Amino acid sequence: MISSAPLPSRCDVIVIGAGLAGLACARYLQAGGAAVHVLEAADAVGGRVRTDEIDGFRMDRGFQVLLTAYDEVWRLVDREELRLGVFDPGSLIWTDGALHLLADPFRSPAALSGALRAPVGTLGDKLKVAKLRAELMAMGDERAMDGPQHDTLAELRRRGFGQDFIDTFFRPFLGGVFLDRSLSVPTSLFRYLFRCFAVGDAAIPAGGMGRLSEAIARPLAGCVTLASRVVDLDATSVTTVGGERVEADHVVVATDAADASELSSELSPAWAGTVNAWFAAPRPPVEKPLLVLDGAGDGPVNHLAVVSEVADGLAPEGWSLIAAAGVGAAAADPDGFADRARPQLRSWFGGQVDVWRHLHTHHVPRALPQRDAGRPLEARPLRDARGVYFAGDDREFAAIQGALRSGRRVAEAILAGSRT
Ligand SMILES: Cc1cc2nc3c(=O)[nH]c(=O)nc-3n(C[C@H](O)[C@H](O)[C@H](O)COP(=O)(O)OP(=O)(O)OC[C@H]3O[C@@H](n4cnc5c(N)ncnc54)[C@H](O)[C@@H]3O)c2cc1C
Repeated sequence: MISSAPLPSRCDVIVIGAGLAGLACARYLQAGGAAVHVLEAADAVGGRVRTDEIDGFRMDRGFQVLLTAYDEVWRLVDREELRLGVFDPGSLIWTDGALHLLADPFRSPAALSGALRAPVGTLGDKLKVAKLRAELMAMGDERAMDGPQHDTLAELRRRGFGQDFIDTFFRPFLGGVFLDRSLSVPTSLFRYLFRCFAVGDAAIPAGGMGRLSEAIARPLAGCVTLASRVVDLDATSVTTVGGERVEADHVVVATDAADASELSSELSPAWAGTVNAWFAAPRPPVEKPLLVLDGAGDGPVNHLAVVSEVADGLAPEGWSLIAAAGVGAAAADPDGFADRARPQLRSWFGGQVDVWRHLHTHHVPRALPQRDAGRPLEARPLRDARGVYFAGDDREFAAIQGALRSGRRVAEAILAGSRT
């Protein structure tokens, strides 16, 4: 854990916010020789990527995964250090009153006959997934992003997927990725992320996702002040809620888009939220690192994982840790989510659910800033009219890769400017 450093009165660059975008920005500035200082409102680094420990269980602030295809991560962190646990490709889907394994035959050829037999979609749907996958794998990230700008549902229909397959597979799967079952995200984002799932693994670091933030932050020790909310700024200075003032050559706002709107004239975007109940179980309901999806659309749980089957260091010896996540209406009405989830989970796993202990529920109303499909997915301007720089996932796209990339782009712009 990085500890809080005293505030300097002056530095080269002030970064506001120690989420992944701010941390990445500060790391690149530091590597470029700038004297950088990060001011973070919370009591620890990581922003939306933090892990809480309760009774020896380590729970992320909302279930999330690291896709190993995110190249921005490996520019900053040694993969070995994270000791990643990876999900099996494919998922268990609840439909027609049972859980069915829809394995990924491309990653595990032994799963081919099972995948073809799984009563989720037709043979034609499965061949279309193969075609989509092959197309996306043949192109780089950037070209995958270049797709048409309609919504994902229109794209899936254009590709001829059956409504049943869209509802039982794509809706819960992409509902988990985008925290929204409506399939209204821009096709370009769907194509990019579907490609990431095809070319790499979905993973969780040992000890939880917060370990990723801590690993990125570690070289910044001595340059981060925690519990220090910025309430006012201009292009060369900031003022904290405690009235302290820091001056610099450049100021970077790397807060989320809603907090950025408090520090600028920009409007806050709409958000996709999520609610996540954590349960401790004496034995795992699924003895594999698999994502479980609500293909029936019953809710309130959209996706579930026994995360202690995926990564080390998440549960005490002899216990399993289960993440059950809701999106859409479930996230809009989070009270009692864990209780409302139990009957649904009992139908999936039987009476063992009755002995699960509810540990904690995380409600994250501002999880992913949303972009509508009509808005092209181009990166937004790095600087406002005052000369203040902006980083954060909303500047690129709502994911770990987007946040890290936005931080790097701002750092590169500042370093390029200081060389000219
Ligand atoms: C539940 C959930 C699930 C997700 N799932 C995935 C996933 O599976 N895969 C994926 O790639 N992405 C996922 N994401 C998205 C990903 O976590 C975010 O895109 C990314 O972490 C955003 O980082 P950021 O630095 O842009 O913003 P943030 O993480 O929001 O960081 C902003 C920081 O600024 C600080 N701050 C705000 N205002 C001030 C102020 N005035 N002064 C000082 N500090 C301030 C905040 O405290 C915060 O630490 C998920 C997000 C959530 C919440």
